[in-house]
Amino acid sequence: MAILRFRALESSINRAPVQVTAPSPKVSDYYSVNVFDREKMSKYLSREVFKQLMESASGGTRIDRKVAELVAAAMKNWAVGLGATHYTHWFQPLTGTTAEKHDAFFELSDDGRAIEGFSSSALVQQEPDASSFPNGGIRNTFEARGYTAWDPSSPAFIMEGVSGKTLCIPTIFVSYTGETLDYKAPLLKALHALNQAAVPVCQYFDKNVTSVYSTLGIEQEYFLVDIDLFNARPDLEMTGRTLFGATAAKGQQLEDHYFGSIPSRVQSFMVELEIESLKLGIPLKTRHNEVAPSQFECAPVFEDINLAVDHNSLLMDLMEKIARKHHFKVLLHEKPYAGINGSGKHNNWSLSTSTGKNLLSPGNSPKSNLQFLTFFVNTIKAVHEHADLMRASIASASNDHRLGANEAPPAIMSIFLGGQLSAVLDEIEKSVKDKKMTPEEKTALKLNIGKIPEILLDNTDRNRTSPFAFTGNKFEFRAVGSSANCGHAMTVLNTIVADQLKKFHDEVEGLVKKGMKSDEAILKVLRKYIVESKNIRFEGNGYGDEWKKEAKKRGLNNITTTPVSLDAFVSKKTMEVFGKNNIFNHRELEARHEIMLETYIKKIQIESRVMTNVATNHIIPAAIKYQHLLVKNVEGLMDIKMPKETYAAQVELIKEISAHLAIIKKNCDDMVEARKKANAIVDIRSRAIAYCDKVKAYFDVIRYHVDKLELIVDDESWPLPKYREMVTIR
Ligand code: ADP
Ligand code: MG
Repeated sequence: MAILRFRALESSINRAPVQVTAPSPKVSDYYSVNVFDREKMSKYLSREVFKQLMESASGGTRIDRKVAELVAAAMKNWAVGLGATHYTHWFQPLTGTTAEKHDAFFELSDDGRAIEGFSSSALVQQEPDASSFPNGGIRNTFEARGYTAWDPSSPAFIMEGVSGKTLCIPTIFVSYTGETLDYKAPLLKALHALNQAAVPVCQYFDKNVTSVYSTLGIEQEYFLVDIDLFNARPDLEMTGRTLFGATAAKGQQLEDHYFGSIPSRVQSFMVELEIESLKLGIPLKTRHNEVAPSQFECAPVFEDINLAVDHNSLLMDLMEKIARKHHFKVLLHEKPYAGINGSGKHNNWSLSTSTGKNLLSPGNSPKSNLQFLTFFVNTIKAVHEHADLMRASIASASNDHRLGANEAPPAIMSIFLGGQLSAVLDEIEKSVKDKKMTPEEKTALKLNIGKIPEILLDNTDRNRTSPFAFTGNKFEFRAVGSSANCGHAMTVLNTIVADQLKKFHDEVEGLVKKGMKSDEAILKVLRKYIVESKNIRFEGNGYGDEWKKEAKKRGLNNITTTPVSLDAFVSKKTMEVFGKNNIFNHRELEARHEIMLETYIKKIQIESRVMTNVATNHIIPAAIKYQHLLVKNVEGLMDIKMPKETYAAQVELIKEISAHLAIIKKNCDDMVEARKKANAIVDIRSRAIAYCDKVKAYFDVIRYHVDKLELIVDDESWPLPKYREMVTIR
């Protein structure tokens, strides 16, 4: 039997693009058809019920049983009308993927007949076994049960499978004792806290604002690889990344992939992904090639943050399913290939008011610009205050490869503002001294603040090396990993901003009580924040070594590994900010911390095992086979009495192969020992650190020698698809 690699290559070369046709040339004809959105609810529900549902969706109030009954009936009628046979509570447990358990829409009547059924209790609440999901020991204390509860602020939708359709109801997932076990519940709590903190601040500027919500637009980067080539790589299959692979002679150095023409097979995949997303109300709008070969990106129009996070989880699921139809595997791992750019998920975040104003977009009067500056500076202050927590919010075994590597936002939290806005902040810092301002100074400052929108119009400043950058009317958290659930990082960001806004309001109120005018008090407090948070502002190249030195001087942390960075989740400061704002209690934070460490350990453990297996079962045998060929050749040449120089090169290769094999074997054995030692460590944090420092330490050595062998061994007998073969889409 030929080597799997060659069969895979052959089929990948012969693939034709899959033809895809949209239901209609006009998106408006099919956008959101599979969503029980406002429009459909208003059609299926009485006006009174609809109103109550909308109120509880926007205000987070409880839905009473009668309303739930009517909504359940309407939802079922709509879903069954579209051919759905099952329903499921759809939630986002801490595994990082989405979870669903399908129940059929039928019940048995007393006399044993099947009737279509879906009760309000099935809509509102279900009880999956919490012990089968990550729970950080929470289940041990009480019961294993957990329950999912409907989130009426995210509409139900229908997932179309190859054989049948399922009604999916977005839910939160909590333990029976009330601790949150998912990404959605804390996010909803953080949004609630943010709204409560931001409205009073908005009221300084506009009395009509009754609520504030976050908006989020998520740019999703990903790689595509032919499914057969993927299947021939056990490392990709088991860990999501290649543990071995010599760099291709041509990588991304010619910079010919970014925004390049999209290969037909990929274009078909993208079209189908867009169609299916749009049907589910995910407003995908942008697609393009990314920097690395076979890397792409898609981005939706921004939405309310809760919906945006749900939609991104759904999108990742869709990508996976649709890629299969196109004989691709989608790689969401942050770093599938060494030496080639990794993938992130830029979180474009802003705040919006009930009056439709983007709070991070400057207006056209000094007053509205003071409002802009207030939210702008408070966000900077919050990130400065909780920089380590922000860093921890994006920590994972896979994102470690990206952060700080010379291509992605570094592990040092800094904020990029652009030259002009930095100048505005510097100006404020200079002009509002502790003394009272003169009327001239006030006028000058007002004038300057009034000029902000003009400034931003020609602000073409972009900084791709900053983990947190202001981009005109929003902040972009660029360090989030491509496979992450954004709810995690967004819970942190919204909580710390909420907390900061509360502090700001308190400080301003304090000054106003002492008789200061509110505008002046606001400026005074902002100035203080500008000074205090100054050292997190960085406009230069975040990838450079210079920045590492400079950051150190400034006292900014550069925590490059996950186990240590996760400490920030259980620090006193974090416990306080989450506790005060009712997002997480101590127990929940400790549980989450444990889950994240556990996940880290498991990921490295799996990689380590796969590495040993592939090296032992695939690489070493291939190298020996080739070496044997060389030996035979040398023997033959000696037999016919050829001079020494005719087989000197072969002998050299034989030696080289043996040397590499010896090192690989030795390091694999030592790594197993290191694993055993690490496993014996009881304290989970120390165990995670041991996996990071002691076990993972072998990866580079083993890889180095395997990759050297790849360059020596006969191409005919090399078992794994090579980088060049995988990143070229034919
Ligand atoms: P870029 O140049 O960074 O690609 P885009 O304007 O294309 O910027 O926006 C990237 C993402 O940011 C898109 O998903 C977009 O919808 C989103 N975005 C734009 N405005 C906002 C906003 N006010 N709040 C949140 N996201 C936004
Ligand atoms: Mg962007």
